[in-house]
Amino acid sequence: MRFCILGSGSSGNAAFLQTEGARVLIDAGFSTRRLGALLAAVGESLERIDAIFLTHEHGDHTAALDGLKKHPHLRIFANAATARAVQTGLSHRPDWQIFETGNVFRFRDLEVHSFSVPHDAQEPVGFRFTAGREGDLFTSRRSLAWVTDLGYAPQHVHEHLRAADIIVLESNYCPELLQADPRRPWSLKQRIGGRHGHLSNQGARELIEAVGNPRWRHVFLAHLSRDCNSIAAVESALAGIRLTLTTCEFAVVGPGEGTPFYDFT
Ligand SMILES: [Zn+2]
Ligand SMILES: [Zn+2]
Repeated sequence: MRFCILGSGSSGNAAFLQTEGARVLIDAGFSTRRLGALLAAVGESLERIDAIFLTHEHGDHTAALDGLKKHPHLRIFANAATARAVQTGLSHRPDWQIFETGNVFRFRDLEVHSFSVPHDAQEPVGFRFTAGREGDLFTSRRSLAWVTDLGYAPQHVHEHLRAADIIVLESNYCPELLQADPRRPWSLKQRIGGRHGHLSNQGARELIEAVGNPRWRHVFLAHLSRDCNSIAAVESALAGIRLTLTTCEFAVVGPGEGTPFYDFT
């Protein structure tokens, strides 16, 4: 498995995942032009992508969809409620591949678990992508969980995180910075901090503490708010955890930033 986050945060989210048999994107929350540029920067292109998996309809996860008219080969995986919500804003009909939330399905050599997450969208999901074979020296079995945009983590989300060895988890806001933010009205602060909003740094830390699995190899903290969070705030929330999960590599992805390529061999 090869993986990189192309960009992450309130202004756009997309990641690239490559296995032996597939090249896919998880979310596409940039303009098509920007997404193309982000892919070009890592030596890839939209032409080489097979499919896009959408978590939910919010613009910071789907902004590229309208411009993808020029790339009809792309299969777009989403549940029916998300596809319907996205389709209303499109001038073309993409090659929708509809799945049922909670089901496991295959795309090429990827096994894909979709599961619901609590967030203020039609039917938001997280994903767990698994590929490779247990004990195979060259393509060992790897499982990556993608969990962003959630107010809290119900038990079934714990289980998917526990079953993965690579985790991408939201750490959206620092509660003090959110409360102090002069630009966001009280009602929006309530929504962000609510049960169907976003996960705070403390929420992410508590979740990692509750699930923490010695099998974890990489944990990416992502979807940081530009105004209400900082890498330093996430790092300080994580400080204790780094000491207990010593074999796991933690990476905090700055607002608007991506990551280099990771080869999960
Ligand atoms: Zn969202
Ligand atoms: Zn989002």
